[in-house]
Amino acid sequence: MAKKDEAAKTKKNEANDLKEKLFMKRKNTGLEMTESETAKADKFCEEYKRFLDVGKTEREACAEAVRLAEKAGFVPFDKNAKYKAGDRVYRVNRGKAIILAVIGKKPVEEGVDLVAAHIDSPRIDLKQNPLYENEGLAYFKTHYYGGIKKYQWPVTPLALHGVIYTADGERVDVKLGEDESDPVLVITDILPHLADEQYKRPAPKLIQGEELNILIGSRPFRDDKASEAVKLAVMQILNKKYGITESDFISAELECVPAQKAKDVGFDRSMVGAYGQDDRVCAYTALAATLDIKGAPTRTAVTILTDKEEIGSEGCTGLQSSYLKYFIADLGEMYGTNGRTVLSHSKCLSADVNAAYDPTFSDPFEKLNAAYAGRGVVLTKYTGSRGKSGTNDASAEFVGEIRRLFDKENIIWQTGELGKVDHGGGGTVAMFISNLDVDTVDIGVPVLSMHAPFEVTAKNDIYMAYKAFRAFFK
Ligand code: MN
Ligand code: MN
Repeated sequence: MAKKDEAAKTKKNEANDLKEKLFMKRKNTGLEMTESETAKADKFCEEYKRFLDVGKTEREACAEAVRLAEKAGFVPFDKNAKYKAGDRVYRVNRGKAIILAVIGKKPVEEGVDLVAAHIDSPRIDLKQNPLYENEGLAYFKTHYYGGIKKYQWPVTPLALHGVIYTADGERVDVKLGEDESDPVLVITDILPHLADEQYKRPAPKLIQGEELNILIGSRPFRDDKASEAVKLAVMQILNKKYGITESDFISAELECVPAQKAKDVGFDRSMVGAYGQDDRVCAYTALAATLDIKGAPTRTAVTILTDKEEIGSEGCTGLQSSYLKYFIADLGEMYGTNGRTVLSHSKCLSADVNAAYDPTFSDPFEKLNAAYAGRGVVLTKYTGSRGKSGTNDASAEFVGEIRRLFDKENIIWQTGELGKVDHGGGGTVAMFISNLDVDTVDIGVPVLSMHAPFEVTAKNDIYMAYKAFRAFFK
């Protein structure tokens, strides 16, 4: 070998060595995870899919969390009781949110470890006076909940979930469209042949809010040639099935969600496709990590599955309310300290999804800082929009602590920022928890087609989220 070539080769090796030493390594779960760990991820996701199918609304997800928690030895929290390390308690907030806690070895005045996910998802809610008839077809009027691309919701089978309180206060649970033998409901769309005018609308108005009308019947009541015979026939069915009259819709919460069940996606079955993975993918992994705590964790582990995140965390079941603060205060009092002392020493993983880089729609992403499906759980330092407005911007200290924890526990993780600067944005519950003087950072799973009726996640990432929450609760 000529001397010149040799020198060049040495230089190249030196560069490689230096790169190895100095550059950040980006990991891919598909290459890094062992076969046995991948099998564990697949197995874990079977239970996850089941959870998605039985918990399509905040109420159902909360009820399922209670069922699983009780099976795992959790009991309703009694603020007058005295708990010892390892005891497992939960408190439900109005059937729509739940806090679970496993009492730790250290006194709570040294703080607790919080994980907070949300169990509400974008959907189509019925209006208070929903029922009407138009030209021989019966419909429900709706008002969508959360940020949806309205054009994605017509012509997909919908199921109706929720509760109705009758005039005399009786509760009626509704779940229609989930059983194989159930009918489904649907929003119609105009055929392409006649869509010339619709095509001229800007995309956000392709389907407008008042066009999200749900088709629910077409056969008239036989003996009535007068008006509203189809509406009457539908109301008669609803009266027989649920014992309700039209005015009972006023005191109801009825939510239309995709009737589709959770499915494996891809020839390799490496992904999960389902409605409501934002944020039940983090809710389920956080819940599983909590239920799987063995004995007593070092610090008290507290998991919150909250409602109303998709509409700004407002209302008494959202995290802008005081229900978490009150629970922590009750917990503190039990051990002779106050809530604020506990909170000031607490740490929180705000468990919410981030957007996965979509190669087909790459433009809104900034490749260096985007999260990618299959590259592990995402650490999102800040969310918000337009100059970090409306965000918890996690401190370098806390991000450093979480980063070291994940590396120590062999958790494959990546960073994520929601799109390019000034290309939109979003938020999570992180800022509402950090407002309580709690160090908080967003940790979650990257999602493709977020907020669509069928969202996609990678199984390996889901498993890494579970591992991350488990590690945090040690
Ligand atoms: Mn979310
Ligand atoms: Mn969301």
